[in-house]
Amino acid sequence: MKFMTDRTLGRLARWLRLLGHDTAMYEGKEKSGRDFLNAALRERRIALSRNRSLAKRQYRGELKIVRSDRIEEQLREMAEEFGLGPSAEGMFQICMVCNEKLLPADRREVKGLIPDYVEETQASFRKCPCCGRIFWPGTHLQRAEAFMKRHIPKDRP
Ligand SMILES: [Zn+2]
Repeated sequence: MKFMTDRTLGRLARWLRLLGHDTAMYEGKEKSGRDFLNAALRERRIALSRNRSLAKRQYRGELKIVRSDRIEEQLREMAEEFGLGPSAEGMFQICMVCNEKLLPADRREVKGLIPDYVEETQASFRKCPCCGRIFWPGTHLQRAEAFMKRHIPKDRP
C-alpha cells in the first residue's frame, strides 16, 4: 500500500513514513486539488487529504478524506480504514523527511554527524541517501512505539 498526501496532511505523511509506509507528499502549487489527485493516480498511490471537497469530484483512483485535524485521531482513522499499525521491522526503513529508503551506515560514516552519546550507545545506524540525515533506534523509536501503543489498538485487523 502506497500513499500520497496533499499539504493538508504533512504531519501524517511523516508518521506514515516512520511506520514504514511509502508516502509521497504532493508538492504542487495548490495545497490540494485536481493536480494532486492526478499525481496520486499516476503513481498508483492512495490519495489522502483533509479537503472534503475532493470527495465530490469524479476520480478513478482511491481517495480517503481524513476527518480529524489531530495526528492521534488521523492515525486511528488510518488504522481503521487500512489496518495500518506499528510494524517493528518496518519502522525506520524510510526517511521521515524525503520518503527515501534508508541505507545502513557504519560507525565511521556517522562520526561527527550525531551526538557523541548516541555514537557511544547505539550499535546500528541508517542514513538517508537523499538528505544525508542519520537515523538510529533508541529514543526516537521508543517514543514512536509508546505513541503508537497509546493511539493505535494492536488488535485491529
Ligand atoms: Zn532524507
